[in-house]
Amino acid sequence: MFEKILIANRGEVALRIHRACREMGIKTVAVHSEADANAMHVRLADEAVCIGPARSSESYLNKTAIISAAIITGADAIHPGFGFLSENADFAEMVEEHGITFIGPKPEQIRMMGDKLKAREAAISSGLPVIPGSPALENIDIAKDWAKKIGYPVIIKAKAGGGGKGMKVAFSETEIETAYTMARAEAKASFTSDEVYMEKYLQKPRHIEIQILADTYGNVVHLGERDCSIQRKNQKVIEETPSPALNQQQRNEIGEIARSAVEKIGYSSAGTLEFLYENGKFYFLEMNTRLQVEHPITEAVTGIDIVREQIRIANGAKLGYSQSDITFNGCAIECRINAEDPVTFAPNPGKITEWHAPGGLGVRVDSEIYSGYSIPPFYDSMIAKLIVSGKNRNAALMRLHRTLEEFVIDGIKTTIPLHQKIISQPEYIDGVYDIHWLEDMLDR
Ligand code: ADP
Repeated sequence: MFEKILIANRGEVALRIHRACREMGIKTVAVHSEADANAMHVRLADEAVCIGPARSSESYLNKTAIISAAIITGADAIHPGFGFLSENADFAEMVEEHGITFIGPKPEQIRMMGDKLKAREAAISSGLPVIPGSPALENIDIAKDWAKKIGYPVIIKAKAGGGGKGMKVAFSETEIETAYTMARAEAKASFTSDEVYMEKYLQKPRHIEIQILADTYGNVVHLGERDCSIQRKNQKVIEETPSPALNQQQRNEIGEIARSAVEKIGYSSAGTLEFLYENGKFYFLEMNTRLQVEHPITEAVTGIDIVREQIRIANGAKLGYSQSDITFNGCAIECRINAEDPVTFAPNPGKITEWHAPGGLGVRVDSEIYSGYSIPPFYDSMIAKLIVSGKNRNAALMRLHRTLEEFVIDGIKTTIPLHQKIISQPEYIDGVYDIHWLEDMLDR
């Protein structure tokens, strides 16, 4: 087994990975920017290396600095977490070239899935249902032709897209030119390529994704689904498993479709297949070739430590269990708590004067925060994940009410009141929501 792992990330995910390493008897190396010298992931790691100034482009995205830190400290492997370099195929390749193991899939798998058009092709050839769509759209006339073929509304998406950027919807021919131009401009500003393509725009879908674990010997299992339909600006806010929209038969079917597709692709490591689900049908959206923010709800119902499995797989271990060994117990829900004004969503970093996390049976809080910690203004505003589980959805929901009430975070504004509002709405309680429900509710 690896003796030392460098964690190329910050915040709660760095801590999450550190925890898995510790329990496996593996030493950890934290890397940090100048702004993060006092962060918890730095304080808990066995060793820490400052890799640059506050700006991510000069620190957490600085490939050379991170690989140098791994070489200097003698780390055997690098775990990229999520965000930052986690889906950067060039980084994965560089890491391997230096004789260090990248904890994740092979660079070519990252590259293929990072290109939405190639990912679509791979999905089609491995039997996944996809949304009706176009190839790359070279100009507006081609875009107009495809929109007619597919039927409005359509969504123009960046081939290299991510983080909800470079996506524009056109409801009719009068809107297509603007949508096309804007998507292309946004893609150019955010990604390496400004190529765009088109998909049918589904109007009331749910976002349902399947967690996969695959070893390097072709053994693949799925760990069930996560319903991530509670979103704002294409960003997930609350996730739950199982999805209130599926029955057992639908659950088994989509799980098996995803599992066998991943087997055909020859993918290894943890990964997630994201689908939109509408009128009883699933449509493949994309595959994330990394750990996801919402992985703890799957861990809560399966008892499987996904980070530990990523590390074992990268080290060449076999899964050691098959699909029939995996059992699903109860229900789990995660709230992403951000340092933001709960009404305007303006970021609200600052000093935490008091911190009291909830506890008790079925409660998990993943966070880097401690009393007296100052949240730097340079990074993502998510500061904590509250995960609750219970023997059924109602039990989990009651626990969520209780824990949100118990949570004390003073000194800054957080989105806790937003979560309390969401989970008190009749539609949320009944589980009847789609990806637009939250924004509509906030507009009411
Ligand atoms: P990204 O990689 O930028 O996150 P995705 O392709 O995963 O982009 O899409 C993000 C979100 O955008 C989805 O969860 C969904 O809310 C919305 N979306 C994407 N494609 C469609 C579509 N064809 N119809 C309706 N909504 C879509």
